[in-house]
Amino acid sequence: MIQSLGVFCAARAGNDPRLVESTRVFGEMMGRRGLTLVYGGGSLGLMGTLADACLHAGGRVVGVIPASMVDKEQAHPDAHEMHVVESMAQRKILMMELSEAYCVLPGGIGTLDELFEVLTSIQLGFLDARVGLLNCDGYWDPQIWMLDAMVRGGFLYESTRERLLVETEPERMLDALLDD
Ligand code: AMP
Repeated sequence: MIQSLGVFCAARAGNDPRLVESTRVFGEMMGRRGLTLVYGGGSLGLMGTLADACLHAGGRVVGVIPASMVDKEQAHPDAHEMHVVESMAQRKILMMELSEAYCVLPGGIGTLDELFEVLTSIQLGFLDARVGLLNCDGYWDPQIWMLDAMVRGGFLYESTRERLLVETEPERMLDALLDD
C-alpha cells in the first residue's frame, strides 16, 4: 500500500481559480485518505494551498526545501517534518527517496523539471514508480500533446509515455496512483 506521495506543483497561485480549487481538493483527498504528502515545503502558491488542505484534512506533511529558499518560498510552519537541504538537486533526490509514487499538479518550469526528473529516471530504469499528471481544466494539454509528438517522432517509447497516468479529477487521480 502506497503511503507517501511526492507532489510537484507551482510555487505561485497562477491566475485561474479553478486550478487552485483542484489543488485544494487534491490535498484534502490526500489528507482524508491518511496519506503523507512529500512536497517542496513552501507555504506560497499552489504548494501552500496543497499543504494547508492536506493538513486540515488530517494528512501528514513532509517538506523538502533548499536552505536558500526557506525565506523566499516561506517554509511551511505547520509541516510535520521539514528537511532543509543544500541544493535544488538534493531536494529532488530526497523527495524521490521519501516518495513511493508521484503526482504533478499545475505549475511552471520548476514543476516541469521535477516531472521530467521522474520520467527520465523511469525511462533509464533508475526508478520504478507510478507517476500521475492531474490535467485540471486542460492545463497540461500542450505538454501531453508534446509527449505524444515525441512518440510519433520516434524519440520516446510508447511504453515510457504510458507510464504517465493522466486524469482530470483529483479523486480519480488518487485511485489510479494508489489502487492495487
Ligand atoms: P514552479 O513550477 O516554477 O512554480 O516551481 C515549483 C517548485 O519547483 C518551486 O518550489 C521551485 O523552487 C522548484 N524548483 C524549480 N526548479 C527546480 C529544480 N531544478 N530542482 C528542484 N526544484 C526546483
